[in-house]
Amino acid sequence: MRPLTIIGNWKMNGSLAANQQLIEELLSSKDFLANLQGVRTGLCVPYPYLSQVSQLLAKSSIACGAQDVSDHPNGAYTGDVSAKMLQDFACQYVIVGHSERRQFHQEGDGLVARKAKACLQANITPIICVGETEAEHDDGKTLTVVRRQLQAVLDLLQGQIASCVIAYEPVWAIGTGKVPTPAQAQDVHRELRLQLAKFDDEAASKVAILYGGSLKPDNAKDLLAMPDIDGGLVGGASLNAKDFLALCQACK
Ligand code: PEP
Repeated sequence: MRPLTIIGNWKMNGSLAANQQLIEELLSSKDFLANLQGVRTGLCVPYPYLSQVSQLLAKSSIACGAQDVSDHPNGAYTGDVSAKMLQDFACQYVIVGHSERRQFHQEGDGLVARKAKACLQANITPIICVGETEAEHDDGKTLTVVRRQLQAVLDLLQGQIASCVIAYEPVWAIGTGKVPTPAQAQDVHRELRLQLAKFDDEAASKVAILYGGSLKPDNAKDLLAMPDIDGGLVGGASLNAKDFLALCQACK
């Protein structure tokens, strides 16, 4: 059985006051979270808030994570943050290759794979995002694109893929309110798992493949019921405690 996983991606949102309020609201549902046995939860937050959030979450079942990492261990890379630095803040997850990084920072498949490797070297689980743009979707290129993105990671990480999480996030669904049907999303997840299986059968059965893109309490149940969808990567709905908790509940 693969663990179900719900990870929030706050993106570039938050403030010291708002973070505290949101996390206090989440943690006041301690009993609720304790009952979510078998569901892994985490929040990936902007770098400046890692110290605050990791302290607030320290005694809870919610893990703390980041949204990006350098592929270098240290050195003259102004503005970058290494995996080892994230380790100092008890980060358990790092999102790599989010479509907003690919689009606005020109991150390519090779760099995304190297970032995932840097995470693993620091014992941090990379959440590796793949997904097609709307134009690629309309051209029927979804599988070609996501397979290419995953293959770059497989080529570099080889036997370490079992320690990663994959997130399928159709770019056209992120922040738009549009979602694929559960069957459409399942097809892509299944293809990704088959690709993993060609590489390593055992790893394929273990790796969590999350769905991301306008996941909300009202559409989550059907998507998360699909056999190859092992949870969600949640943007907008992770900024609201009630929605985030409802999504965790939908995983059950
Ligand atoms: C995301 O940014 O990873 C995401 C899935 O965003 P949203 O849930 O807002 O579509």
